[in-house]
Amino acid sequence: MIIVLMGAPGAGKGTQADLLIESGKYRKISTGDVLRKHIKMGTQIGKNAESIIAQGKLVPDDVLLEILRQELGSNEKEVIILDGYPRNVAQAKTLQSLSQVHRVKGAVVLDVEREELIARISGRRVCQACGATFHVSANPPKTQGKCDKCGGMLIQRPDDVPEKVRVRLDVFDKETKPVIDFYNQMKSLTSVSADGSKEEIYKALKKAVESLSSGKN
Ligand SMILES: [Zn+2]
Repeated sequence: MIIVLMGAPGAGKGTQADLLIESGKYRKISTGDVLRKHIKMGTQIGKNAESIIAQGKLVPDDVLLEILRQELGSNEKEVIILDGYPRNVAQAKTLQSLSQVHRVKGAVVLDVEREELIARISGRRVCQACGATFHVSANPPKTQGKCDKCGGMLIQRPDDVPEKVRVRLDVFDKETKPVIDFYNQMKSLTSVSADGSKEEIYKALKKAVESLSSGKN
């Protein structure tokens, strides 16, 4: 079965998905990761995708569907956490019947207030030298502007300034709200508050995923 995991930039979706996978009960499929894998391995799909991305275009739906079909496989006992897909209602509808083995059991959305997301992302600082990440209030470096690990200079990524974050969140809302509404109408949406510690959020997420995967529908 498939459980769709959704969350805005800054909601902590990546971290939480990793924790779910570490529990050993689930397999994660991230369409972004799978695409990168194809590109790295130089498969035909990878070569095509690479040239599309190089032109600054989005990889078309049919290509994403093909790689997704391959990744889903035929082990009906698996519970798959799907990350980065579906991005629109058309994809969500296709996903309902994409695999005979894996049916969509529901979607979980990590819910965080917009202002909190902006604070989380715009407070991020990254070490120019080693890539370590800090946060001005949640995880500040010992010395302001300097990396604890290597002494390198901490910078704010250009995409992380508040104006850019607002644009990214607008894009996410525009793309994802209809998908959230779609699952809501199907009565298969669970909203998990992602405001709290990593552990608290995980506890709530785990409960939601377990409830979906053990449900009868
Ligand atoms: Zn560093």
